[in-house]
Amino acid sequence: LYVPLLLSQFLDRAVKLYGKKTALIDDGKSFTYEEVNDRVNQLSHGLRHLGVTKGDRVAYLAPNSSEMFEGFYGVFQLGAIIVPLNTRLIPSDYAYILNHSETKILFVDHELLQHIEPIRDQLKTVERIIVHGQGEANDWTISYEAWLSRFEKTPVDRPEMDERDIATLLYTSGTTGKPKGVMLSHRSNYLHALTTMHHLRISDRDTFLHILPMFHVNGWGSPFYYTANGATQVCLRRVRPEDIFPKIYKYKVTVMHMAPTVLNSLLQYAATYGYKKQEQDIRIVVAGSAPPPAFVKRVEEELEWEFIQVYGMTEASPLITTSIIRDTQLKLPKEEKYRLKAKAGYEFIGSDVRVVNEYGEDIAHNGQEIGEIIVRSNTVMEGYLNNQQGTDEVIRDGYYHTGDMAIVDEEGNIEVADRKKDIIISGGENISSIEVEGVLYDHPAVLEVAVISVPHAKWGETPQAIVVKREGHEVTEEELIAFSRSRLAHFKAPTKVVFTNELPKTASGKIQKVHLRKEYWNEKEKFVN
Ligand code: ATP
Ligand code: MG
Repeated sequence: LYVPLLLSQFLDRAVKLYGKKTALIDDGKSFTYEEVNDRVNQLSHGLRHLGVTKGDRVAYLAPNSSEMFEGFYGVFQLGAIIVPLNTRLIPSDYAYILNHSETKILFVDHELLQHIEPIRDQLKTVERIIVHGQGEANDWTISYEAWLSRFEKTPVDRPEMDERDIATLLYTSGTTGKPKGVMLSHRSNYLHALTTMHHLRISDRDTFLHILPMFHVNGWGSPFYYTANGATQVCLRRVRPEDIFPKIYKYKVTVMHMAPTVLNSLLQYAATYGYKKQEQDIRIVVAGSAPPPAFVKRVEEELEWEFIQVYGMTEASPLITTSIIRDTQLKLPKEEKYRLKAKAGYEFIGSDVRVVNEYGEDIAHNGQEIGEIIVRSNTVMEGYLNNQQGTDEVIRDGYYHTGDMAIVDEEGNIEVADRKKDIIISGGENISSIEVEGVLYDHPAVLEVAVISVPHAKWGETPQAIVVKREGHEVTEEELIAFSRSRLAHFKAPTKVVFTNELPKTASGKIQKVHLRKEYWNEKEKFVN
């Protein structure tokens, strides 16, 4: 009676229940669930024809597109493994990942082919490169549409599978160093999808806009949650407010997931150019990365979108907590609710999340003590590919150690304070860069800010803010320091503020403090004075 939990089942179900419904919209193209399934079957036949079997790796280098979506299910039906590639890497990174993952077949969107050209002689295991999107194939690639059309739409024979078989190799964002190949099984992705559907209340009434990249773990799961429930999914190639708002109105989008930096750009755009509140149906907007309460307030009051925060990481499929408002909290004043929603919140169903001190003991839930978030869950990875040492460093004593530091309030609500590596230790006190950033975001002239640790002769380290100003606003370093000191314990206020036009970000929109630290960490300052 036991059925292994396999990801192909999500599309199978959608075809049965919602076959004639629009599944996917990508630029001018639109497909029903039956049509998508036909193409998925053709893809599986084609891959089998190229010799792909269970356990083989198939990589995708593509923006969110119907072809990439087809790849998910076409590859899984054969028991093969997907390796989604971040579209913002440089050619040598692609060579590293494709060789490290031993990829056999590579699909590339035509506009990204230029990144593969210079490294194609370095690829040790890639046998075929197939291009899709706008443009022609050349003498070393195969053209997707012509190739696909040669194969039948009939179902393929699927191999015997175990739910613990690996479904994907997802390389981490590389926010803190070289990307690591995270091995996630069918089972972990499947259970993660079920839990997410529940927490986000996903149904066939939803229209989802794919903003987060499918190649990144935050966007990776959406083709599962929304497909299983027969929602309509709209692809987005360029993540810009001027492309996002028209899609929200045209397709009556109900749910979006995005990085707070993107949500911030939507707020800014709406404040500048206006926003047609009456012509949209957004039900919820989901974001991670600890936005400050003032930000949640703007989303809920200016755009009137319900904000849900989630917290997770590639190694956990990714989500492990969410900022749900409990029934007992519904009557709280609005400001209090924004404050709650700005926290990572409570554990997902099926995850055992703890915050512990250096001895592995749970910290006191008093909003004061700080500890590391650790998690045990059905959605945690099987390990890093070919990196036992790296795996053993993070999976210890039966828990995955996230490397994120947090405090917990009396109600058990988790608030991420910082990454272990980003915590600022000044005069022996821990300072959460996220807390300081939250205060600076309250200043009207601040569009974006990152707070990092820099050396200080007296205190060892001190917070420095790197700020992008909002268009048409002026502010000085002294003003921002004074503003922070009026709202924070003085030792937490930045002692230096520098202005810049743009902050370095990962493809998913996360600020890369590792680059900022390199730029501003001046070792000599430790000794002067
Ligand atoms: P790498 O591991 O390669 O350095 P990365 O950790 O940025 O990269 P991801 O797995 O994409 O790669 O990101 C997970 C991390 O993002 C978490 O460990 C945490 O630091 C941060 N994060 C995610 N959600 C939140 C949130 N809601 N609040 C605060 N931080 C968050
Ligand atoms: Mg990480």
